[in-house]
Amino acid sequence: MNKRAIMLVSGGLDSALAAKMIQDQGISLVAVNFTSIFCTCTSNKKKRLGCSSEAVRLSNQLGIPIRSVPKGSDYLEIIKKPNFGVGKGVNPCLDCRIYMLEKVKSIMKEEDASFIVTGEVVNQRPMSQMRNRLQLIETKTGLEGLILRPLSAKALEPTIPEKEGIIDRIELLDIVGRSRKLQIQKAEEYMLVDYPCGTGGCLLTDTNFSRKVKDIFEHDENLVMADLELLKFGRHFRLNRGCKVVVGRNEDENSAIQRRAGGEYTLEVENVPGPIALLKGGPSKDEIITAAKIVLRYSDHQGGSGSVRLLSGSNEQKISTILEIENDLPPQALRTLQI
Ligand code: SF4
Repeated sequence: MNKRAIMLVSGGLDSALAAKMIQDQGISLVAVNFTSIFCTCTSNKKKRLGCSSEAVRLSNQLGIPIRSVPKGSDYLEIIKKPNFGVGKGVNPCLDCRIYMLEKVKSIMKEEDASFIVTGEVVNQRPMSQMRNRLQLIETKTGLEGLILRPLSAKALEPTIPEKEGIIDRIELLDIVGRSRKLQIQKAEEYMLVDYPCGTGGCLLTDTNFSRKVKDIFEHDENLVMADLELLKFGRHFRLNRGCKVVVGRNEDENSAIQRRAGGEYTLEVENVPGPIALLKGGPSKDEIITAAKIVLRYSDHQGGSGSVRLLSGSNEQKISTILEIENDLPPQALRTLQI
């Protein structure tokens, strides 16, 4: 066993502290940060850059090289069919940790590292950080004794680097539970500032987002990650098994939806401000009319019929049609269609 380890960094305080503690023991670290379309972390100053930018900032601060690993299309299968269940949303936390650690295990070989360090704290998160689950993750990944959790190490069995004297167990902590008091104290000691991802952020734990994920799994068998990414934008309405409408809620979402339109239909109301909607899945004439009514309903259009522009065809060659639409969709019908 050598004095080189992989540090799993999220950009949050716990991984920052764990990295600092292990670095102080003379261990050379290589940071690995997983990026995901489901990450909701934002820093106070850099909205929307997410925790991966925090992970880069942290690794720069500590002088550690960093490797960024996207949770790719193989991760879709984990969300679809988790082996160990989900939390309050569709978050497959146990499978997710196993997925990440399996990838880290290969990186360990590439980087000639002997063990893995994480900022995990026993009992901090119900699904993946309970003592027995930490053990299960190690067994499933074949990493028994090779995952060092410096913040909770003294509350766990000694790992191989501790047993071999590579790591001095005395210097490690015994934090258990959700209180962050000790971490904040320790951060002050190390003069670590700005810890924006203290609680982490994952859309898969969000019940509203999860409802849309469940809907798409139920209705679309040939999903790709881009389909899941689209769930992050707009209001979603299911018109039939294959057909749905996505309606932007603000300018940013309108642009995001427009960029993802490809060859699908888009709709927008003529002459008054209103949303852009994407109509996916080979709609019938009736479904196009319903989608146009939904778009009209969310525009500034007042009163009776209004004009809605329907665009079809590829980005290079759009075909534009103006539809005259009655503004008569009852609120109850709208609610029934909304996912
Ligand atoms: S909260 Fe999300 S990112 Fe974190 S372990 Fe669970 S599924 Fe994975």
